[in-house]
Amino acid sequence: MEKWPLGVFASIDAGLGVKLEVAQELGVPTIQLHAPEKATRTPQNARRFLDRLAMLGIRITAVFGGFAGESYADIPTVTRTVGLVPPETRAARTKEMKEIADFARLLNVDVVALHLGFVPHDTADPLYREVLSVTRDICVHCGDQRQALHLETGQEPADSLLRFIGDVERDNLFINFDPANMILYGSGEPIEALEKVGRHVRSVHCKDATWAAHPGKEWGAEVPLGEGAVGMERYLRTLDKLGYSGPLTIEREIPQDPQRQKVEVGRALNLLRELKAKIG
Ligand code: MG
Repeated sequence: MEKWPLGVFASIDAGLGVKLEVAQELGVPTIQLHAPEKATRTPQNARRFLDRLAMLGIRITAVFGGFAGESYADIPTVTRTVGLVPPETRAARTKEMKEIADFARLLNVDVVALHLGFVPHDTADPLYREVLSVTRDICVHCGDQRQALHLETGQEPADSLLRFIGDVERDNLFINFDPANMILYGSGEPIEALEKVGRHVRSVHCKDATWAAHPGKEWGAEVPLGEGAVGMERYLRTLDKLGYSGPLTIEREIPQDPQRQKVEVGRALNLLRELKAKIG
């Protein structure tokens, strides 16, 4: 398989990322798909969608779980609303995450991913054990249908994430590395973090950001690829050094401005093409 196939984070009827039509127009060979709405996750739709993708020459490399009620408005809101950490929605979301994995299976996709939410850094916190247990539960479900689960990075410093993955003790648990999130959440210098967790990284986002004045207390700012603090050339060289050859999936979240989003994703693709040619 080609090294570093380019991709975009995309959605059909629900979720973040660019619309499928945009992926098609930009000519990308792969997408990570944000899970469509529950009502559309049917076998019939899966077949229809696969036909459409085959016609477009697009391959899905991962299906990302997402849930109603999640908001990335600011860091406290993420803590309260995102992923499987908030107790009041956990049972329903765990069930839904398994359904999303089942839908990914229908799409012949071996990777499902999600933002787990803010895992407590204190392993003595009872919430830590609860999140471990729910992650294990989903890993078992995915494992039974030959799928891996990838955790999106950002909320956890590299060392906490490593300890968490070790504590889950499942061999189908990996990382979707998002360097910009490390900056946005203020959880560590992204390249250093990548070097630490590299052996677990099986998919990546190409996204950029600038640091907040008070990292960890307030959001940094997501910016077009190449204009932030990640350092795309260093990022790709580090991935290369780690032996990562999987897709490079561009993520640009500005849903309020689809036109600008398309232009910026187009530029990001050009930047990655240049760097791919340079680094080889
Ligand atoms: Mg991401």
